[in-house]
Amino acid sequence: MKIVKHRLVRDDGSPYPFRDTPNKGGTFKPRWLVMHYTAGGSARESITWLADKDSSASAHIVIAKDGTITQMVDFNRRAWHAGKSEWRGVSNVNGHSIGIELDGFGFLGNAGPGKWHFRKTLVPDSEVLVATHKFGSPKGGWARYPSKQLDVALELARLLVRTYGLEDVIGHDDISPGRKQDPGPAFDMATFRTGALASPGTDAAPAPAVGGPRFRVTTESLNVRTGPGASNPAVAGSPLAAGTFVRGGQDQGGWKQVTAEGTGVAGWVSARFLEPAPQALFTVTTELNIRSGPGGGEAPVPGSPLPAGTVVEGLADDGTWKRVAVQGTVNGRAGIVGWVAARFLQPAVIPVAAIGQPQDA
Ligand SMILES: [Zn+2]
Repeated sequence: MKIVKHRLVRDDGSPYPFRDTPNKGGTFKPRWLVMHYTAGGSARESITWLADKDSSASAHIVIAKDGTITQMVDFNRRAWHAGKSEWRGVSNVNGHSIGIELDGFGFLGNAGPGKWHFRKTLVPDSEVLVATHKFGSPKGGWARYPSKQLDVALELARLLVRTYGLEDVIGHDDISPGRKQDPGPAFDMATFRTGALASPGTDAAPAPAVGGPRFRVTTESLNVRTGPGASNPAVAGSPLAAGTFVRGGQDQGGWKQVTAEGTGVAGWVSARFLEPAPQALFTVTTELNIRSGPGGGEAPVPGSPLPAGTVVEGLADDGTWKRVAVQGTVNGRAGIVGWVAARFLQPAVIPVAAIGQPQDA
């Protein structure tokens, strides 16, 4: 796929389906990509609704469960997908973002122990993820996204990031916390974000590994390649400097699939130049506010403040602030993620034996 005049077209130049909507604003320059679920019964139903003036809502793109893409608003025009929202101190995120709606039931109704329904129809267990939203609630059943739909979404997200220089990929819940819960726990935002923001390399860049064991680069400069083997081309962002932390994925013939922390550079490296590294775990040294963004003016997230002694995993840095994931349940909430002032953290020591060894070292 490619983008011509702010419309999505196939590689052979034929257009993707386009359904016009009156619910749109003027031209703008997008900075971010916002992911949503429709909470609708089908893509067709949601597209019809978003094309209806009465909905006062729209999105640039709707992706059906089978991966079919429908564009509704040119990428250089405002769509009405975010509503009341704020990100990085900027309000009205519609004026700064492209919105993708994933067709999906979203948060499901409870139909008795272990049973979940959408509009009174039971949803098969295999299509349900039982989880707590990262903001602490709600807890329950969430419709899973088919892998075909996620693959198409990632391919499109990468294209949008590259074409418009988008700075970040976020969820509706991130920009309207408390009011919105999409795309929800069934959408692996961390993996998707890393994949979408990863350096272009090739269109066939390998899937990122973000949840795996942590390693450190031991050599001066380590090439990251598109596949396992020195004959594969290096990806953009390669090589990695000594000391770079990466997350490890699959192993193949002495090569390991990795994603670099911070930059998201993803690909394959020779595993003998990696050593196991501790997880970036920290202990909170004082009762500490955890906020929705990096700065003392940002709103605390549900579950704040964290008691002294709370263990958190470092996810990202922004100046003197660190984005962290709280380990376990704190203040009755699991899955708390947010920003804290880094000076109130100290490294938590965990035995290296607990970390996976590189299989080809
Ligand atoms: Zn939404």
